[in-house]
Amino acid sequence: MMVAVLGNGQLGKMLQQAGQRIGVDVQMLDVLSDRYPGNDTIVTVEREHWPVNPYTDALQRHPNWLNHEALSNLSNRIRQKTLLDELGVATAPWHVPGSRTTQPELHDLLGSDIFLKRAEGGYDGRGQKRLSHLTIEPLPEWATDAIAERAIHFDREVSIIGARNRQGQMCFYGLTENCHQNGVLMVSVHQTDRLAYLQEQAETMLSTVMTALQYVGVMAMELFQVGDQLMVNEIAPRVHNSGHWTQIGASINQFEMHLRAVCDLPLPEPHQFGTSVMVNLLGMEWNPAWLVQGAAQFHWYGKLHKPGRKMGHVNFNHADAKRIVPLLEQLPLPTSYQPAIQWACDILDDSASRKNLFSLLPAIDRIFR
Ligand code: ATP
Ligand code: MG
Repeated sequence: MMVAVLGNGQLGKMLQQAGQRIGVDVQMLDVLSDRYPGNDTIVTVEREHWPVNPYTDALQRHPNWLNHEALSNLSNRIRQKTLLDELGVATAPWHVPGSRTTQPELHDLLGSDIFLKRAEGGYDGRGQKRLSHLTIEPLPEWATDAIAERAIHFDREVSIIGARNRQGQMCFYGLTENCHQNGVLMVSVHQTDRLAYLQEQAETMLSTVMTALQYVGVMAMELFQVGDQLMVNEIAPRVHNSGHWTQIGASINQFEMHLRAVCDLPLPEPHQFGTSVMVNLLGMEWNPAWLVQGAAQFHWYGKLHKPGRKMGHVNFNHADAKRIVPLLEQLPLPTSYQPAIQWACDILDDSASRKNLFSLLPAIDRIFR
């Protein structure tokens, strides 16, 4: 089986690695390339934005180009938010500023704290501006091609990753907890039972979108949790950074799942086990110190070094959450990681103490019987 992936970044590379294991030949296509895949190759993407040029135009007319409708709807925040409203899937309240809209008008509509996000092209918090009612300024020129969105004071940021095939069969990974700093994902934690009480709600939200768009492949939905309610932050029609832990904590990782879905191969529920933690290596140089810990699964993308750029990631998994704490603490990371590492350690400690309490319950029960 042959799959071609538009985009030649780390996600494409990891799709290729997954393909090698299951006998699917994955070819990566640079957006400036001129290689046109054969007609029986399935064409999928690892990014939702690409330059418009004769090559990308031709590629989108390939007989096996997937997800026309989904990519067009989800690659633009205005269309994405409109779709969510139409489907009745909860999302942060939003508004598209007009050419004469003023900042105070946006505060009247959306509250005192607002995110202004470009409709297209933003990633890792780029293409965004935070608006506070305490600092009133003229809106930037690009505001008319942007959404203004109420800042949500969430309890947690989580994400759900699922896959759907052409027959409408779907499968999902358990919710992942994510820690962002300055709009960039730093660390993800996945535990099999921790967020089980929200799982059905999240699956319903994601399956509503995948079904409406007749989507084929892996889709990721970033969510804010407020109390027991979830609301969508944004959706990515592709494999996602917050699903990298599946490389260590699931029998079928998200990359393999995407290939299975697009190639019409079996799509069983993946087995997910223990506690998994993923740490993004942002703006770092390659360092053999990453290879010291036997428990760390290291992924290096081999990209040109740039400050802040996602250069690689490290995955951990253990049946006993607490055992990951010292491993995280020993990672050679800059001090800017301290809050994110502390955030993860708090979750791991918390789950360990809850587990200890639960393991004591049968003994306590026996005493009182
Ligand atoms: P990426 O593509 O890397 O996921 P992005 O640039 O598309 O990021 P968002 O996901 O929209 O940007 O925002 C990045 C982060 O900023 C979020 O994960 C969240 O931490 C914060 N954020 C964005 N919108 C809101 C909001 N409405 N309320 C509160 N926090 C927000
Ligand atoms: Mg995001």
